Amino acid sequence: MIIKLYGVRGSIPSPTSNSEYKEKIKRILELAVEKQLIQKEKILNFLEEIPLPLSYLIGGNTTCLTIRTEENLYILDGGTGIRVLGEEISQNPNSYPKVLHLFLSHTHWDHIQGIPFFKPLYLPNFTIHFYSGFPDIQERLMYQTDVRFFPAPFEKTASKKYYHHLKVGQPIKIENNIEIHTFPLKHPGGCFSYKFISLKNNKIFIFATDVEFTGEEFLGKQEYLNYFGYADILFIDSQYTLDESFLKIDWGHTSYTMAINCAVRWKVKNVILTHHEPNYSDEKLFQNYLYAIRHRNYLEKDRPKIFLAREGMVFQL
Ligand SMILES: [Zn+2]
Ligand SMILES: [Zn+2]
Repeated sequence: MIIKLYGVRGSIPSPTSNSEYKEKIKRILELAVEKQLIQKEKILNFLEEIPLPLSYLIGGNTTCLTIRTEENLYILDGGTGIRVLGEEISQNPNSYPKVLHLFLSHTHWDHIQGIPFFKPLYLPNFTIHFYSGFPDIQERLMYQTDVRFFPAPFEKTASKKYYHHLKVGQPIKIENNIEIHTFPLKHPGGCFSYKFISLKNNKIFIFATDVEFTGEEFLGKQEYLNYFGYADILFIDSQYTLDESFLKIDWGHTSYTMAINCAVRWKVKNVILTHHEPNYSDEKLFQNYLYAIRHRNYLEKDRPKIFLAREGMVFQL
């Protein structure tokens, strides 16, 4: 499985502000002065060496990622990141299958907002299978593009569309070597996590956003241990700092501290912190990332390995 991230922001798209952009440039130039960089040829090497929060943008698109297997392209959530994926597909049509499988965790705006801007939706040679734990997913998607909100009605778009209701405790297979499980998450209006198990090499990827883990889960409820235990990669909601999570109880999201507690308890190997708070700058997210590592170390664990989700990141399992 090759996992690629297209959108990692929570709640609402949040483009980088001009002030944040300028601040990054200012700090990069300060570093260049410190290093007495005067030769043009050395610029590329210098850029490779600068600290992480200066060398990339986290990205402002909302949740979307892909899992590429030998046979299929699975898309998880249709936040604004899916628009970028659609562009990639339309520019390199021969590199992608014409049958796509889109899994939706839930239908809050930030997880479906990109779907009306997903080019393959409008192309007659594409077939899109929609999967969800919600039985009325077709009606929800049609409602999103009601003429009061969007000019192109969903059902009139040219691709072929099929809808599948996923049930908890009933894994499915779309191809022989991949088993997909569904698990309910605590979130206003409900939400579902999806677990992809490669039966070929026994690797496990879990997609778990949006969710509010508050404590009881990581204290060892067997159903959570069974579902999340020993995942190779857990892509998990970690929207807030711990302090902010106390101010936002029942908003449906998890602090990075609690996300690490869960991952440690569940013996996860790698954790990707995601669904970033739109009000947090790259700088603040990177600080939180360092605190998350410190928190894991405080728990006296060297696992899981922690990653801060950013657009364009690729993982291989
Ligand atoms: Zn969300
Ligand atoms: Zn949500």
